[in-house]
Amino acid sequence: MVEIYKEKERNEKEKLNNICEECRKEDESVSQNLIMHGYKNCDSCKISKTIFPI
Ligand SMILES: [Zn+2]
Repeated sequence: MVEIYKEKERNEKEKLNNICEECRKEDESVSQNLIMHGYKNCDSCKISKTIFPI
């Protein structure tokens, strides 16, 4: 029972980690970009940053 609860809690945290810092949208590419490039952006924000770097 405890194991199931922990698993659910972990999934909730992973969900939070998938929220883009730029547009606040939830996307699974956010966590991938965080691992790959070190910033929490979704793919569409990543592309706009690449084309228009601030
Ligand atoms: Zn975004």
